[in-house]
Amino acid sequence: MIGVLALQGNVREHVTALTACGAQARPIRRPEELSGIDGIVIPGGESTTIGKLAVDFGLLDPLRKLLAEGMPAFGSCAGMIMLADRVLDGRPDQQTIGGIDMTVRRNAFGRQVDSFETTLRLHGVPGDPLPAVFIRAPWVESVGEGVEVLARISGGPADGRIVAVRQRHLMATSFHPELTNDRRVHQLFIDMVTRAAKDRAAERGLVAE
Ligand code: GLN
Repeated sequence: MIGVLALQGNVREHVTALTACGAQARPIRRPEELSGIDGIVIPGGESTTIGKLAVDFGLLDPLRKLLAEGMPAFGSCAGMIMLADRVLDGRPDQQTIGGIDMTVRRNAFGRQVDSFETTLRLHGVPGDPLPAVFIRAPWVESVGEGVEVLARISGGPADGRIVAVRQRHLMATSFHPELTNDRRVHQLFIDMVTRAAKDRAAERGLVAE
């Protein structure tokens, strides 16, 4: 069962993509709704709004706690910003959940290439390159040691910029896999969630013995 943070943004699209992959998914608006989920998706939208509403709805601290305890999370675009420990060009009072040791730059691509579509290779997703839709997207300016770079832009003015990362149970993309029919990024996240749930069950088994 995967929750989709439903404060603002592409909530329905993520629910559709997750259920198309065979997972169960439900929107999360209140702290009580967090119980019973095995992972969470933070959608694309507007990170300043999502951050503000997360504070107003009392979700920010519970989410920080769950992620710190090992619950898998996937953030796309604004969701990537929400999972970043550090934000450049954010609002001064902007709040994030954090968890990934990275610095992201908000609205990084600038006016010329504000929004665009391309294809790219993502580590862990074999086969054809992925279609990737960027909408006023952030890029990852720098990452800490524990962060695995999954994809970079190749060619154009943003050549080499990092646009997908993973740190253990947390994954983030600058682009919106929920806006294409290619479900491989959602499948990858579901695999992360399944593995984490199995590991937790095994741990409980060990403790019980
Ligand atoms: N620019 C937006 C932000 O700062 C992100 C855009 C998106 O999610 N498509 O949150």
